[in-house]
Amino acid sequence: MTTKPPAAPHHDDQAIDVLLRPATWAEYVGQEKVKQQLHVMLTAATQRQEVCDHLLFYGQAGLGKTTLAHLVARELKANLKVTSGPALEKIGDVAAVLTNLERGDILFIDEAHRLNRMIEEVLYPALEARKLNLVVGKGPGARTVALDLPPFTLIAATTRANLLSGPLRSRFGASFKLDYYEPADIGAIVERSANILNMNMTPEAVTAIARAARCTPRVANRLVKRVRDYAQVHGQKTVDVSVVQKTLDMFEIDALGLEPYDRRLLTTIIEKFNGGPVGISTLAAALNDDKGNIGDVHEPFLIITGLLARTPSGRVATELSYRHLGLDVPLNKLI
Ligand code: ADP
Repeated sequence: MTTKPPAAPHHDDQAIDVLLRPATWAEYVGQEKVKQQLHVMLTAATQRQEVCDHLLFYGQAGLGKTTLAHLVARELKANLKVTSGPALEKIGDVAAVLTNLERGDILFIDEAHRLNRMIEEVLYPALEARKLNLVVGKGPGARTVALDLPPFTLIAATTRANLLSGPLRSRFGASFKLDYYEPADIGAIVERSANILNMNMTPEAVTAIARAARCTPRVANRLVKRVRDYAQVHGQKTVDVSVVQKTLDMFEIDALGLEPYDRRLLTTIIEKFNGGPVGISTLAAALNDDKGNIGDVHEPFLIITGLLARTPSGRVATELSYRHLGLDVPLNKLI
């Protein structure tokens, strides 16, 4: 093995993530509609010198919700205070966060679908009337004290908007759905990241990485980093298609970006359930996994690529899925 100093020796993997995160709207590739709508809201709020309404960002992991929240904060020149649904477990947790807010602050709650009902109920009046209602004392002597909160903006991010309670959802001034990215946009992200990391990458290599990136910026950046590792360790000054291919092979990622687990999910449906339909609970049991994990993390990408179909009677492996796995397509799939 050749040892060559890395291009940016002072940056570890996490520091690289910070380096790759877009710091301006221009660097935030794609999602044009979302950017346009946000631009109008933010400009209007700034012109009126008011705080922006509460915002909800939803979509699959890694599509850019957190990045968007940072950009909003930067545009409004506001402090961004970051927390998450699971971190706000007790009323004291959310009370501490809310009472620490200053005028114009942005509170970012990631994984908002994991907020428990008790916390959601504290949030309703905080969002609507800027009041924090706390119960002081116990039993018959208990009373509610209402504290005033400064004007602030909540940005909630979630992969599962449907799991937010109706009352919470209705308190956002606008909801923005982040979609999977177009291949050209993912290509632009790969190219940008490769440039930031001083990598020499052929256009074909950019395309090959983009194709395996599951239409997701976070995956694209992860692949760029792994390809960079491979090129460095093997003394390759230029990243070409063969370097990308060898990296993907090493991590058992196929040309569509499927990982071993994705292929196992599809082969399980095909081999154990005759191609489906199979109910999600039965499938989860066969895979020894949690059905929420299958439904939230793995299925959405398999569905948009057309490998898996969700039908009223269960999950079905499509004709494309057989072909992709190199299996004979049964006659009933060809009709
Ligand atoms: P989420 O919060 O939706 O899980 P993040 O905002 O953390 O996703 O995005 C994951 C990574 O992908 C970020 O660190 C950033 O580098 C990159 N990224 C996300 N969206 C974009 C985009 N539109 N343009 C360029 N890079 C992006």
